[in-house]
Amino acid sequence: MEKVIILGTGAAGFTAALYTARANLEPLLIEGMEPGGQLTTTTDVENFPGFPEGIMGPDLMDRMRKQVERFGARFRSASLVTGCDLSGQPLKLTLDGGEVLETRALIIATGASAKYIGLDNEKKLIGRGVTSCATCDGAFYRDVPVAVVGGGDTAMEEALFLTRFASEVVVIHRRDELRASKIMADRAQEHPKIRFIWDTVVTDVMDPGQNKVTGLQLHNRKTGEDSELAVDALFVAIGHQPNTDAFKGQLDMDANGYLVTDSTRTKVPGVFAAGDVQDHVYRQAITAAGSGCMAAIEAERYLEAQGA
Ligand code: NAP
Repeated sequence: MEKVIILGTGAAGFTAALYTARANLEPLLIEGMEPGGQLTTTTDVENFPGFPEGIMGPDLMDRMRKQVERFGARFRSASLVTGCDLSGQPLKLTLDGGEVLETRALIIATGASAKYIGLDNEKKLIGRGVTSCATCDGAFYRDVPVAVVGGGDTAMEEALFLTRFASEVVVIHRRDELRASKIMADRAQEHPKIRFIWDTVVTDVMDPGQNKVTGLQLHNRKTGEDSELAVDALFVAIGHQPNTDAFKGQLDMDANGYLVTDSTRTKVPGVFAAGDVQDHVYRQAITAAGSGCMAAIEAERYLEAQGA
């Protein structure tokens, strides 16, 4: 029986681990399929306090990992929680191999994953030119045109990063106004390698027959015009989906699947949630870390009250 299990190793999970480990609760971290979380798919992080020159996302996560290892946190790698029974103590988690773990307290920090448009051919070409991570895949597309879909900060960040490699970066946005912050929008719009196509959605991705991306079918929502765009890659940057499937029916969620919390407490005593899995508003590394700290302190108080 564990005292506390933490699901996820993003900024929220690592911070929760740091605090619970230093409180001698010997946390067990379940690492999942995206170790280090979303920051491992980012380049420069300029808004995490303490790094005046900025830091690369993967470096920041490496440092967080080393910091929690120093205090004895334990890891289970590449394990997915597929189900749970939170109806009473002990709390039970089922892993993908069928193993059941028992714990007194649970901190859910499973974050959110990139969304895709939902086209059949998009799905077929994921990993073959369709991707949601410029940092991971940008370097494969040197001196060729690529497209980015989305109008938020992520889309601008991806587009700017891709200018390092691609001959041209075409940003396709479904409206004529960006959602991104002004500073990111200005940077992207002023970049000579970035071109915008407004009011337009991607209706198909070609060519699964060739097992690679050769172009996109586009539809202008204002003029009704259809067109084709020849590109070698499609970077999808249209937001994220919280990773909460394993908790359906057991914890309260909002309409988009984000866990509903009071501070970091869920409706189940002993179950806490931190970071992007419960925050669709701020979604920053620093706010995720902050809520990981809060969840750890609340879990510690819960366990103390239970006499653990
Ligand atoms: P977001 O702000 O939710 O933006 C998603 C974008 O994708 C929107 O422009 C949206 O269009 C578009 N979109 C959504 N569904 C679509 C679909 N099915 N087809 C076509 N387009 C679609 O998501 P995000 O950019 O990932 O950012 C998430 C949060 O992280 C934000 O708070 C952001 O500020 C923050 N962030 C900050 C930084 C930074 O400061 N460096 C970097 C990355 C992210 P509409 O505009 O029409 O809704």
